[in-house]
Amino acid sequence: MIESPIQYLAKLNHARQSLDGPLIESIARAVGESSLQLVEHHRIAAVLIAVRGGFQEAWSRREELSTDLYEKLDAVDAPARGTRVPFNFRELDRAQPVQRSTCSNCRIRPGFGPCPRCSGVGVLLVQRPGSDNSTVQDCPACDDGFATCTVCGGSTESLQATVRYVNYKPFDTNHIVSAAYRDALQGAFPAPSVPPDELAYDVEGSGGQSPYRGQQVSMDRDFHGHRFDDALKQARAFVQRVQSAPNFILHELQTYALPFVLATFDSPSRTHRSVLYIGADGTPGVSVL
Ligand SMILES: [Zn+2]
Ligand SMILES: [Zn+2]
Repeated sequence: MIESPIQYLAKLNHARQSLDGPLIESIARAVGESSLQLVEHHRIAAVLIAVRGGFQEAWSRREELSTDLYEKLDAVDAPARGTRVPFNFRELDRAQPVQRSTCSNCRIRPGFGPCPRCSGVGVLLVQRPGSDNSTVQDCPACDDGFATCTVCGGSTESLQATVRYVNYKPFDTNHIVSAAYRDALQGAFPAPSVPPDELAYDVEGSGGQSPYRGQQVSMDRDFHGHRFDDALKQARAFVQRVQSAPNFILHELQTYALPFVLATFDSPSRTHRSVLYIGADGTPGVSVL
């Protein structure tokens, strides 16, 4: 595990030095070459954005409810924010008015409405097992199509209230911002693991702004000698999208620098490139591009 504050970079530097030694042999095996020669390497940094949140869909609708159902919905406790399991529930929208009314579903015969089993027809078509013939039978659930009203429960009184329906699906991701190297770095810190604190990095920090008013400085900031290129700009845009997505509930967002080494090797026949990083388990990882 990565513990002390300088360990990630120390380990990466150590691994970088062995690009010319022990590591080159395993890379040669991975690309199917008998020998490779290190041509050059660059220290680059991507940004890892750890997002913990979920997609939420909610809609409201005015409904006619029995007093029992109203009381049941009134007692509903919304699931806690940040829960990691999907859920759907309905609750009363208490901001909307509640009106008492006479049940509209059982005006013809108060307390009794169309039978839910036979749709109020009063009879059912019954097919006997093993027979193609069906016979008509009186519906056992009602009296001539009338059954206890499904809206008011037979009380003839109902309540008009607004019910809110909510569907929620948790979504956790460690999004790597660096269009060119995202796939190569995917194995470094798969969610739910996160990089060590020493890599925590504020992409919104002041470094993008010059101390001189109105003067924009280059986005080419670096992280201990690892240059970000346009990863910071892309990361800011991603953070903004996550924060403003209308159906995304954000619980936690943390940004990290993810330093890595891009190495180029030559074999007698061609050139190979690979990405070297330190993974969540503290050991070097190599992705061949
Ligand atoms: Zn019926
Ligand atoms: Zn009714």
